[in-house]
Amino acid sequence: MELRQKAHIISNILEQFIGVPKWDGAEDVLECLILTILSQNTTDVSRDKGYAQLRKKYPTWEQVLRARNKSIEEQIRIVGLGKQKAETIKNFLTWLNNEYGELSLEFIHEMDTDEAIQLLCQHKGIGIKTASVTLSFACGRDVFPVDTHIHRIALRLGLIQPNCSAEKAHHELPLIIPEGKSYPFHMNLIYFGRQICNARKPLCDQCPLTEYCLYYNEKIRLY
Ligand code: SF4
Repeated sequence: MELRQKAHIISNILEQFIGVPKWDGAEDVLECLILTILSQNTTDVSRDKGYAQLRKKYPTWEQVLRARNKSIEEQIRIVGLGKQKAETIKNFLTWLNNEYGELSLEFIHEMDTDEAIQLLCQHKGIGIKTASVTLSFACGRDVFPVDTHIHRIALRLGLIQPNCSAEKAHHELPLIIPEGKSYPFHMNLIYFGRQICNARKPLCDQCPLTEYCLYYNEKIRLY
């Protein structure tokens, strides 16, 4: 079966199985970017706590810009990789202020998606996943962020080649995802990855995708 057709069928099955998540509407772009930087390699709960602590100590981005890296690191300690993330945030705010004269990323709404991804990814600590999440969640762009759940499920289903990294999947998967479905498909796959297609022990006996799953057909069905 052609991969585009397969992705289309899987997207439809998940919508019937889980529902059709609706995009919540535009968010503050800079806030979304900083939250996404904080969320790298940590849980949503820790990210939210770290972000809340940072904004409690420094309610404005101007104050974060003026703060010492060490102090930013202390506020976000709970998210892990504090030194690195503090540096990324501080460097990005410094660049934004120097380049645009204000601490706002709302101008990204006017930019072409590829151009916006390129603009964000030129900064150390901001990769394709962080840029894609920001453009999808804050701007409602039809881009498809690939997190660890999505990478794992795409490999198991055979939507990407076995040697395809998560980074590479950001370029491969958008080619087969039905137009306009990036957000609901992304959200459903994350839910599905947490509830059914777990990393350690996927609940294949409860899965509606067995017919389309390479992992199931190669490793589970025959035993
Ligand atoms: S059949 Fe099992 S491995 Fe395949 S997608 Fe479903 S839960 Fe995941």
